[in-house]
Amino acid sequence: MTTLIYTHKACMSHDTGHNHPERAERLRAVLDGLTMPSMSALDHREAPLATLSQLTRVHSRAYIDQVLSTVPFSGHAYLDPDTVISPRSGEAARRAAGAVCGAVDAVMHGDATRVFCAIRPPGHHADPDHAMGFCIFNNVAVGAAHALVQYGIQRVAIVDFDVHHGNGTQNIFSREPRILLTGSHQMPLYPGSGAAFEVGLGNIVNMPLTPNSGRKEFEAQWRTHGLTRLASFEPQLIFISAGFDGHRDDPLAQLDLVEADYAWLTNEVVEIAEQSAAGRVVSTLEGGYQLDALAASCVTHVKALM
Ligand SMILES: [Zn+2]
Repeated sequence: MTTLIYTHKACMSHDTGHNHPERAERLRAVLDGLTMPSMSALDHREAPLATLSQLTRVHSRAYIDQVLSTVPFSGHAYLDPDTVISPRSGEAARRAAGAVCGAVDAVMHGDATRVFCAIRPPGHHADPDHAMGFCIFNNVAVGAAHALVQYGIQRVAIVDFDVHHGNGTQNIFSREPRILLTGSHQMPLYPGSGAAFEVGLGNIVNMPLTPNSGRKEFEAQWRTHGLTRLASFEPQLIFISAGFDGHRDDPLAQLDLVEADYAWLTNEVVEIAEQSAAGRVVSTLEGGYQLDALAASCVTHVKALM
């Protein structure tokens, strides 16, 4: 079945200013990779705008209003010290969250089994009430909440392999037994949370990795903890917070992963999805700041989804 790409040109217009690592060139590099001749089987769709009711499943109305009213008419404004916005950022953030909702609709309606959302700003640090770490709305959480509410799904899993802990996603779902969140991340590293003892209701699996631990530890942790829990949870839909900043060439962290590691984990997740979720996987772009490594990792990841 066709693999879909959800994206929108507004995500390119989210201008974060000079020298910001989370820049439009990232998405350009990803989209250049995904439009190579070898990827011609992909079907590209325009991301819808997330609606207010979709966003308020995860974020407070006051926070959403604050974001949209802070969007400047020109220049830049700050939602937090790292999270810069510009005139098109409000639409970009709504398209990024809307992409994941559109992806959920597509897999639930049987248009596709796998979808990759090529979007920015990223989302997994965003909390119900504040922006954080380049993230405005928590895209994957908005999508997961859409799956719970709109489709009545009882078991939704989120796999997060970004090199940073997905603290926002954890905060949003740590008391939600219908969600299993499994994530690996470098520790110590921003944002500082994500210890193995942070388990929520027992629905959170954190796999902190020491700097330079590389493939061996990454695979061992996922085999022993993440994938085992994921398979036994029997998810009916799996989301991936796909951050590629654990790559050895990435300037923001030191996890020493390579493209093949992302392919390996993606294949394992797809296999579990085939067992319990009718193959349904919705993946969404999070971090990844070295353009060549990001594009190559993303292509490898999407090929594994296909
Ligand atoms: Zn990251």
